[in-house]
Amino acid sequence: MSSTPFTGLGTKVKAAYTKAVQSGAVRFTESEIEEADDEETGIPFEIRFAPALQKKPTAVKEEPADKSARPDPFAPPYVEDLYVTEDTLVEEGETVGEDFVVLLNKFCVTPRHFLLVTKEFKPQTSPLSPLELIAAWQIVKQLGAREKHLAFFNSGELSGASQPHKHIQFIPLSNGIAPFDNFINSNKPQNPKAPFQLPLPYANFTTLLAPPPGQDLSMYFASTFLALLDLMIDHLRRTSLSTPDAPAIRLSSLSYNVILTESYLHIVPRTAECYETDDGTKVSINALGFAGMVLVKDQKSLEKIKEVGVLKVLSGVAYRPVAPGESSEEVQDAQQDPVEEEQKVVEAAPVE
Ligand code: AMP
Repeated sequence: MSSTPFTGLGTKVKAAYTKAVQSGAVRFTESEIEEADDEETGIPFEIRFAPALQKKPTAVKEEPADKSARPDPFAPPYVEDLYVTEDTLVEEGETVGEDFVVLLNKFCVTPRHFLLVTKEFKPQTSPLSPLELIAAWQIVKQLGAREKHLAFFNSGELSGASQPHKHIQFIPLSNGIAPFDNFINSNKPQNPKAPFQLPLPYANFTTLLAPPPGQDLSMYFASTFLALLDLMIDHLRRTSLSTPDAPAIRLSSLSYNVILTESYLHIVPRTAECYETDDGTKVSINALGFAGMVLVKDQKSLEKIKEVGVLKVLSGVAYRPVAPGESSEEVQDAQQDPVEEEQKVVEAAPVE
């Protein structure tokens, strides 16, 4: 495969974004950021307040209620001013690869928010393929040389996703650091290859990313991501066993968020799309919330979230954390092959 997919992407996104804002193809919404640091963990959460979003039409509002009648915005022909570039990635030793297109996000609150979409339709509920993970990782790595970016993926009905065509999203991090970076760094396991759970009041699974030089990236990302999914599914299975009449766990019907930076992959399974405050106000949470950045559209929600605290809001739409010592033999067995020996145990450290 090409060692540098999407060469020059940063420059192309900047040029396309400037043009698209001028032409009106991108609708940028102004917002203010409120700092909402969590005292116990020190995580510098951000609440992004965008009151103009209440009035502006959203992608969903513009669409017909019947989902099957909705046009696919990520299928060709692309809106010229939203199209940035495309590339093909091929797994080592293969001749046929996967085609990807980069499009600007039409409705953005962060400048230069863009999407990596599969050229052929693939459902958003399908797990990320090794090539999709490689493409996303190569993009954040490449762009990070000038400006750090964060990639995120919302999958499933309760994840905050709105489009069924597979897409991974990217935003630049204006201050060069993602809210969870320091917390992940200070809670990383002794064995850097082991997946682990951060000490948070909801279930979460993280792996540090450091592909060994010379190792086939497809193998690396396949085993790394599968190990996280295995842990997540095992936890959901355990949780559902203790819930009477819980439906069977199926990968295609799971809801979860994925956050990817150059140095880690973090996933969070979801129980609800919206957090509901005690006065009935609903706040939709997607992967960006679990990356530490919550978006609100009205003053009441802003005040409520500040009062309740972002961690409590996130816990309200996610599963209970993995308890200490709780891990299954099935997961450990699954991880022995093909994942490397060290990737065996979730180092569970939940908040009491
Ligand atoms: P999600 O809601 O997670 O599925 O992400 C879909 C993203 O696509 C949202 O952030 C939308 O703002 C964006 N979007 C919706 N319609 C379009 C479109 N026609 N072109 C580009 N981006 C779009």
